[in-house]
Amino acid sequence: LSERLQNTFAKLRGKGKVTKADVQEMMREVRLALLEADVNFDVTKNFIKTVQERAVGSEVLDSLTPAQQVIKIVNEELTKIMGSSAVLLNQASHIPTVIMLVGLQGSGKTTSAGKLVKYLQAEKNARPLLIAADVYRPAAIDQLQTIGQQVQVPVYDEGTNQDPVEIVRHGLETAQAKKNDYVLIDTAGRLEIDDQLMSELSRIKQVAQPTEILLVVDSMTGQAATHVAEGFNDRLDISGVILTKLDGDTRGGAALSIRAVTGKPIKFVGSGEKLDALEVFHPDRMADRILGMGDVLTLIEKAEKDYDEKQAAALTRKMQENTFDFNDFVDQLEQMQKMGPMDEIMKMMPGMAANPALKNVHMDPQDIEHLKAVVYSMTPQERQTPELLNPSRRRRIATGSGRPLVEVNRMIKQFKQMQTLMQKMSKGNFNGMEQMMGP
Ligand code: GDP
Ligand code: MG
Repeated sequence: LSERLQNTFAKLRGKGKVTKADVQEMMREVRLALLEADVNFDVTKNFIKTVQERAVGSEVLDSLTPAQQVIKIVNEELTKIMGSSAVLLNQASHIPTVIMLVGLQGSGKTTSAGKLVKYLQAEKNARPLLIAADVYRPAAIDQLQTIGQQVQVPVYDEGTNQDPVEIVRHGLETAQAKKNDYVLIDTAGRLEIDDQLMSELSRIKQVAQPTEILLVVDSMTGQAATHVAEGFNDRLDISGVILTKLDGDTRGGAALSIRAVTGKPIKFVGSGEKLDALEVFHPDRMADRILGMGDVLTLIEKAEKDYDEKQAAALTRKMQENTFDFNDFVDQLEQMQKMGPMDEIMKMMPGMAANPALKNVHMDPQDIEHLKAVVYSMTPQERQTPELLNPSRRRRIATGSGRPLVEVNRMIKQFKQMQTLMQKMSKGNFNGMEQMMGP
């Protein structure tokens, strides 16, 4: 998904202005990308409609950075689709809070039960009890017992071939007696949704009166995940979703469709087999992941906050006209200082994160101060016309700024490289960026 979008966005990035046709082409790509990522067809259709309406508005067309505006809209709408903000677990007014885990076989229910115990222990200082209500395979009960030992909580089981509804009833009585504050019920799954399973789960629900019914969904199952979520929600009215196996080579589209189709929040994501690999689900972070843009949005926001648009316009013009001078150089340095450490900014730029040349990029804030001192020691004419800087002027500047002559020379050389680079960048080519940072 990310590669496709990156290419599309890269195409637009260098453009000064976009047309409706540009936006439409971009939307076609976003649409394909979402479908490729297994996002449900209807969800994709609605999504594109919303984004397109916003994107052809003046918000983008009049903007100086149209591609970034579109990326931002796509990201915002993705976040919105997934529920905007994190939704935490509900708590019962009387203990115990009962959490029932449901889902297909192999989705990660039993593992997630162990992960949730760890989470509750850490966050709520909880003393949970686990109930083994998957009675069809002895291995399932052993697995939960092992997990119980790992996280040091008791597991209530009655072996195989007992009625799971009765097991749950007895388990809850045990929890009452032992004053456990949380009870997690690990239920059986099937390879597909069937009536027998659903009626068993419904009966457990009636007896347990759970505060949370969390549907565990394997994010690797793609489109199927949406149907599974719909099926379970229709029968059980789930309260939330745990999306597992996000550490794998998953396309993440399930996260979008599930929330949109069921209206139920994704509460947690599983990101590994180990019991500490559970995270609260954050829609904005998932949107970033789906877009595969690294922290590009953080970068855009930083730039937006710190950068005066008029200045940006002037700079763009100067870059195009090749009249970028030392005054602009100082402005640029100051913008960079406001935006934060240079090496971090570079890493946030699309396509730069993986660039090995960046490993050694580091610009000291003090270096910037020195560079500024050198520029301030130039006369206004020298700042505007760097060609004037002959050896005797350079010596004068070195003395005036208190910097060594070699440094003044090096800086002038860097400035010239930057001038060249600015020109390249104004044509939408970022590849020269690391040259600027070189020795
Ligand atoms: P259940 O049948 O729904 O109870 O599923 P299990 O909890 O037994 O998990 C099935 C398999 O998926 C096991 O091998 C787990 O280790 C694995 N698994 C569960 N959650 C995750 C996850 O978030 N990431 C990865 N990589 N594996 C997971
Ligand atoms: Mg299991």
